[in-house]
Amino acid sequence: LVRKILAGIAAVLLLLIAVLLARAAALRSRQPRVHPIADLRVDAAPAAERLAGALRFRTVSRLDGLPVEPDQMLGLHRYLEQTFPGAHRALAREVVGGYSLLYTWRGSDPGLPPLLLLSHLDVVPVEAAGGRRWTVPPWSGRIAGGWIWGRGSLDDKLGVVGSLEAVELLLARGYRPRRTVLLAFGHDEEVGGRRGAAAIAALLARRGVRPELVLDEGGVLGERLIPGVAAPVALIGTAEKGYLSLELRVSSRGGHSSMPPSHTAIGILAAALARIEAHPMPARIAGATAESFAFLAPEMPLGPRLFLANRWLFEPLVLRSQAATPESNARVRTTAAVTMVEGGVKDNVLPEEARAVVNFRILPGDSIAQVEAHVRRVVADPRVAIGVYGQTADEPSPESSTAGAGFQLLARTVREVLPEAVVEPNLLSGGTDSRHYAALGAAPLRFVPMRLEAADLARIHGIDERLGVANFAEIVRFYAQLLRNGAG
Ligand SMILES: [Zn+2]
Repeated sequence: LVRKILAGIAAVLLLLIAVLLARAAALRSRQPRVHPIADLRVDAAPAAERLAGALRFRTVSRLDGLPVEPDQMLGLHRYLEQTFPGAHRALAREVVGGYSLLYTWRGSDPGLPPLLLLSHLDVVPVEAAGGRRWTVPPWSGRIAGGWIWGRGSLDDKLGVVGSLEAVELLLARGYRPRRTVLLAFGHDEEVGGRRGAAAIAALLARRGVRPELVLDEGGVLGERLIPGVAAPVALIGTAEKGYLSLELRVSSRGGHSSMPPSHTAIGILAAALARIEAHPMPARIAGATAESFAFLAPEMPLGPRLFLANRWLFEPLVLRSQAATPESNARVRTTAAVTMVEGGVKDNVLPEEARAVVNFRILPGDSIAQVEAHVRRVVADPRVAIGVYGQTADEPSPESSTAGAGFQLLARTVREVLPEAVVEPNLLSGGTDSRHYAALGAAPLRFVPMRLEAADLARIHGIDERLGVANFAEIVRFYAQLLRNGAG
């Protein structure tokens, strides 16, 4: 009998393995099959010089949405006019919200919905201490060692200059679009885009513009970023997480520290924060992250493919491996980060108040209300007052479909310009200007093919921000081919 049972178990196991293997083998590549383009040659060195010139303007935005140095922002406007004379003759240019720019390249068929490419003119500041640690001065716009160095080279002047370069390139070839092309450059993206992108979006809405495609920054061309995938991966942002900060506040009577209660305001607050960290919101594989696995799995070696093709069995394992690093954890759950804490004035005085701020990035499917309810349930202490902190509270974005015309156009263009790349829909954990354009009805996508390795991610908003000279030429070709494909 024992032999029979063992044989039975072995048969079931073999069958299971056969099913797992069959499912892994049945995965078909989701990559569009296209022919790489051979034309659209970009002269990399002068293009890099033109981008470097734009990096010399200190276009830092203030919290209220105005430039710290208005002269610098207006200087960049003039620089673009002088540097791209062809584009400025062929396209109409409007200043919106004081400092943002909207370019209109009118198509020959005004009945077609336009393409809308978003970038932003502003940059984050360079801290005085950080500035000294740069390899080249951060505002020098210098080209050295095959790199274009400077604040804004990745975020996001490459989009501003890159799309204008593409327009010039196409104009020089005698190209005229059938579909209208709009280039919208906000001036306060780094502080929320309420004056810039929001004003442009409102203007376009008043004009009844319903774009065919909205393309913003956000996704990159990741190199060795995804374990198991050797090819560069074009991470196309199809959704972005929501944003919420909650403040926790504890008040107490204060008094002398020689006869303290068992928990001071700080102790009560600390316990509440510890409970929030110990009880993260539930993880799940859904939406953009599920799509991402569907696109990546067929490109992976058998091992990981086996797991991703059989999530019906391995879901808990996949989730656990995702939770193992901060980057992958952010793809599968609403995250919580305790970012600010304050309390106490003197070593021998009981604190009368202690407060902390926790920043949440909300997974599509969760909501601001759900996060608040979760935190109240987990903290479960009436002595801790909980309220929304700051100006910014955004629900997660809707998900842009990978079956939509916009994603198909982008995926095809990526593979035509970068034939070795693997296209992957992706969930962004940061926010972009694109959310302001939601009312125009198009499902925004977020991608610029800047090549980044894991170690380069810290350069964005950080020290030694730089872009490869050859990579910038690829970016210009990408925008030009996107316009040709999309605008006819
Ligand atoms: Zn940016």
